[in-house]
Amino acid sequence: MKYDVIIIGSGPAGANAALELSRSDLHILVIEKESLPRKKPCGGAMPPSVSELIRVDISKVVKNRTGFLESYYNYEDRVMERFLESEAPIMIDRSEFDYYLLKQAAVEGSGKVELLDNSRVVSVDEKEDEVRVALESGGKYSARYLIGADGALGKTASCVGLMKKRKFATSIDAEIITDEQYYDTHSDRLHINYFCLPYGYGWIFPKEKNRFSCGVGTWGKPLDIRAEINRFIKRSIPENCIKNIQISGYPIPVFQGTRRLSTKRVLLTGDAAALVDPVRGEGIRFALHSGKIAAAVILKLLRENKKPSDQSILTEYDKRVYEEIGKELKSQLFFQSLAFHHSPGMYYRKFVKREA
Ligand SMILES: Cc1cc2nc3c(=O)[nH]c(=O)nc-3n(C[C@H](O)[C@H](O)[C@H](O)COP(=O)(O)OP(=O)(O)OC[C@H]3O[C@@H](n4cnc5c(N)ncnc54)[C@H](O)[C@@H]3O)c2cc1C
Repeated sequence: MKYDVIIIGSGPAGANAALELSRSDLHILVIEKESLPRKKPCGGAMPPSVSELIRVDISKVVKNRTGFLESYYNYEDRVMERFLESEAPIMIDRSEFDYYLLKQAAVEGSGKVELLDNSRVVSVDEKEDEVRVALESGGKYSARYLIGADGALGKTASCVGLMKKRKFATSIDAEIITDEQYYDTHSDRLHINYFCLPYGYGWIFPKEKNRFSCGVGTWGKPLDIRAEINRFIKRSIPENCIKNIQISGYPIPVFQGTRRLSTKRVLLTGDAAALVDPVRGEGIRFALHSGKIAAAVILKLLRENKKPSDQSILTEYDKRVYEEIGKELKSQLFFQSLAFHHSPGMYYRKFVKREA
């Protein structure tokens, strides 16, 4: 069956692209390898401004709002800072949030947005007049355009020759259930412990009632990340407050500078395009944003009936991503090199503690 657009991946990038396309007359197919709703290791913190990128109300799936940022430099030199009301991060549960966006897309698309889960894409083949997708199960689909929203470990980028030599940060997330008393005294803050492991940091984020995301990530050489998370948990949360711990790891593709993100018929979004803050590891906002831009560019392309050989419109995708996302990420590269390679102490004093 031939679709107008195939989206591979149902994370924030793919789900938001589907949502943006759902009001058009286009036939959309979203392909997801996991069964929905799927789990994604993630801290689940996002700035409230993300709601401007999503055209449905997300307040129903916001689990918590934080008020403070509590920072440490390798377990010492604590600073507590109050967020401005308009910038206080909101907390989500990723399986619920991502699936909510996708369901909204299916409802608004009333039959024109199809979801295919439990379906792993094994190849993407770009032809002159269409893109062909093959599944592990043997299924075959094609479309006029394809959005690669298949994250850090997806297939799309390598199949179409984009994003060669990506760099990954190693990270691991522990979902921790605590007792009520610990939650009540820590639910108002994001806790970040800079450089508590080499070239990285640890975090404790209050996701929802009695549940925290506690993780560590390193931008340096791979190390024994399980030993690091165990050490971090042991030193940060009193053992008698912990009721359950579930650990899962996942790589974070780190933004390395401007790259080509599209071909004639394929547009990469979110983690598949390495649109992740190279210092903080923040990626949800950029995934939502790039999914929205990809949808807008495809809609424009089809509305203006541009010939596929006309590359200008897809360059427009690269240009828009650079203008609206890439510039911000590029400026973070300076801080990445300062914080993780040259002068962690200075980074902490000047940019976390904000000493003059
Ligand atoms: C431990 C950890 C903590 C993090 N914490 C935060 C945080 O607090 N705040 C923040 O903003 N960011 C955080 N991030 C980053 C954030 O999770 C990602 O940037 C975000 O998930 C990117 O969204 P995406 O839609 O691009 O990709 P994903 O959410 O990874 O979605 C990709 C989807 O594609 C599917 N897929 C992959 N391959 C195939 C295939 N072959 N066929 C079909 N489907 C496929 C996957 O199953 C998945 O559902 C964290 C990341 C990690 C690893």
